[in-house]
Amino acid sequence: MLVRILYGSRYDRLPHGQRAYVRPGERVIREAQWRLRLRRAPVTSLPDYSGSVPLGEIEEFLACTLCGEERQQPLFEPTGGKGWRYRVVRCPACGFLYRNPNVRPEHLGDLYAGSYSSFLTGKYAAQRRRRYELTMKAFSPVFEDGKGRRLLDFGCGAGLFLGLAEELGFDAVGVDLSPDSVERANATLRTARAHLGDPEDVPEIAAGGFDVITLWSVLAHLPRPLDDFARFRRLLAPGGVLLVLTVNANSLLLKAYGSRWSGFTKNHLMFYSSATLPVLLRRTGFSGVAFAPHFGDAVEAGTTALPAKLRRRLVTRIRASDGGNMMRALAFADQEALERWGAEQKAREL
Ligand SMILES: [Zn+2]
Repeated sequence: MLVRILYGSRYDRLPHGQRAYVRPGERVIREAQWRLRLRRAPVTSLPDYSGSVPLGEIEEFLACTLCGEERQQPLFEPTGGKGWRYRVVRCPACGFLYRNPNVRPEHLGDLYAGSYSSFLTGKYAAQRRRRYELTMKAFSPVFEDGKGRRLLDFGCGAGLFLGLAEELGFDAVGVDLSPDSVERANATLRTARAHLGDPEDVPEIAAGGFDVITLWSVLAHLPRPLDDFARFRRLLAPGGVLLVLTVNANSLLLKAYGSRWSGFTKNHLMFYSSATLPVLLRRTGFSGVAFAPHFGDAVEAGTTALPAKLRRRLVTRIRASDGGNMMRALAFADQEALERWGAEQKAREL
């Protein structure tokens, strides 16, 4: 309502993902609304919270994964098609956003049963390929030349990125939980290989020594990120890097759209920002991190219909504030990795 009074219909034709960034003054208003929301939302103990919220069959209640804080600040209840619904709480100590109740890890496969691989191929394939290419470009020259370097794509789906990685000359291997995705991947790959299940169960992955590990839209799906990241750190070779693309919990769009935010999708479990991801990396033995702001794939690829003046405004605002609706990060395993790539990526030590 307030938005309608302020802006009328002038910005109605812009995509949702761009509107909030280009309307004059909107960032200030949304930030103020967000602070008000945090002040008003009650903070409860974990026993009180778990006593008042229904628990699904495959779910469990969690304390904050990053800092151990037990208190809960319930903020959102995203819902979607086919009747899914969950609750998102904020950790009042470290600000981490996570689904609570969360999904028990042994039931993670239940979320991906059925035809998930059709989503990862088909009409989304071209868009996803573009997203991979833009992100690799944002972290150039780390991905420019794969020759002789080992790459692990964790959560490789139907192998779309593995295909790109083998084109770039990487010795590439992937793992995924979905049997039909893995089968589909291996049907099209030439030198890269996709495997089903746990990295520890696959000898060529368990052996480690990877120069690059990629997590394309996977981080938000991990119910035990500390265990997973400690494992990624072990699997990296000296001088290795880990690439993360995930939804950005500090996005202005989350503050603007709340429970209707595009990052609250059916299978997302945890929501990171440039403030909380470094905590996860520090706790699992990484040495540094760099972030690349995300202006939206259409803007970066030069295909947006946004007029030049508004495009400049969007880029300036994202750069100066939240970093965009997606978070792109490059984590450095050790000092060697920082020395090799850090200066160019404007890395900070953890
Ligand atoms: Zn916390």
